[in-house]
Amino acid sequence: MYPKSEELFSEAEKHLVGGVNSPVRAFKSVGGNPLIIKKAKGAYIYDADDNAYIDYVNSYGPHILGHTNEKINKAIIEALENGTCYGATSPAEIELAILVKEAFSYVDKVRFVNSGTEAAMSAIRLARAYTQRDKIIKFAGCYHGHSDFLLADAGSGVATLSLPGSAGVPQSTVDNTLIAEFNDIKSVENWFKKFPNQIAAVAIEPIPGNMGLVLPKPDFLQQLRDLCTQEGTVLLFDEVMSGFRNGFGGVDKHYGVEPDIVCLGKIIGGGMPVGAYAGKAEVMDWVAPLGTVYQAGTLSGNPVAMKAGIAMLTQLKNKDVYRHLEEYTQTLCTEIEKLAKKHNISLQVQRYGSMFTPFLNNEPVHNYQQAKKSDTLKFAKFFWELTRNGIYLPPSQFEAWFVSSACTDSELSLTIEAFDNALRLI
Ligand code: PLP
Repeated sequence: MYPKSEELFSEAEKHLVGGVNSPVRAFKSVGGNPLIIKKAKGAYIYDADDNAYIDYVNSYGPHILGHTNEKINKAIIEALENGTCYGATSPAEIELAILVKEAFSYVDKVRFVNSGTEAAMSAIRLARAYTQRDKIIKFAGCYHGHSDFLLADAGSGVATLSLPGSAGVPQSTVDNTLIAEFNDIKSVENWFKKFPNQIAAVAIEPIPGNMGLVLPKPDFLQQLRDLCTQEGTVLLFDEVMSGFRNGFGGVDKHYGVEPDIVCLGKIIGGGMPVGAYAGKAEVMDWVAPLGTVYQAGTLSGNPVAMKAGIAMLTQLKNKDVYRHLEEYTQTLCTEIEKLAKKHNISLQVQRYGSMFTPFLNNEPVHNYQQAKKSDTLKFAKFFWELTRNGIYLPPSQFEAWFVSSACTDSELSLTIEAFDNALRLI
């Protein structure tokens, strides 16, 4: 079924490390070789053998409007005509920053970078400078990119490969990284008790997607907010994945909790490499050139990427997009639950707006420990059955699926049919 993919992957392995440029793409946790993708359009992605799939990976998040969105493509092409980068501020950077501020009402200032990794890494540097403290708290199973000090207990990619962190990270670098349990405020309080006045930041995916999709318990984010305010610690929401996923803005709109710094990526670049960290002027003004926190980038605020981001966010201001995404994803998740019951499979479907994870797990998942109890062997089988049925899904149990607004009733029916077939066979 995949002869051309097989052939191209063998060739890729000769020239690219592991045949890929990002580890999760190697399909290690589901076995077999990855599909080689040659193109994508709308709700569909096509492999080298011309098999078509309904895409629920959407490049791990950016393509909330589907592939080759007409307005985004047009914006990119027009931007190209005017030069690919200038090394100077351009009007598009101002325009995208204004859109981000419109979506995140607590934000005064934005700094654009090139990836989510860069955003989180820089935000932590800023929090450390602002508080004059070194220690940070992160949560088991949350991923904030691959900078050294954030690569402890970091969910999906790392969990998929069963690595505890990463080789090449000096112990001294992670000595200041304290790991807490998601949804367990006591585990955070304990660190504050142990290290009074020493914790610079609490970094969290407020809606984690990197251990699979997990929701915070009703008061958890507010408790974190209160604790950080009380302790003079920066609360950092990493919304690289969750931002714009459930409406035009972030988690604050649903949970009523505002962080001091927010990190963004994926959607805000419209499929081009963009990240951002943003927050109140009081904090952000510590960044150079106004402040003493150095952070720079040759391609930061790249005009082509900014134009793609503007075209994306402008379209996301239309409430109909989110209404459609909500209806589609809610129906799909409900149908998946019904099918799991029909086939007697223990499945927990967890969802935030247009992102969700079906966990092959006996219990609802509230943290990384529970996520790890999922049946990953069964997931591998499930993965290949769905693939055979024309569904492109993340090759790991510990990832979120992303729905695009390009999906219609037709893709919904096809997806439900594919689940029926796959769940029957696992
Ligand atoms: N933060 C979160 C929550 C992410 O999901 C990711 C990537 O998946 C990152 C940061 C890193 O972003 P990037 O891959 O653009 O470096």
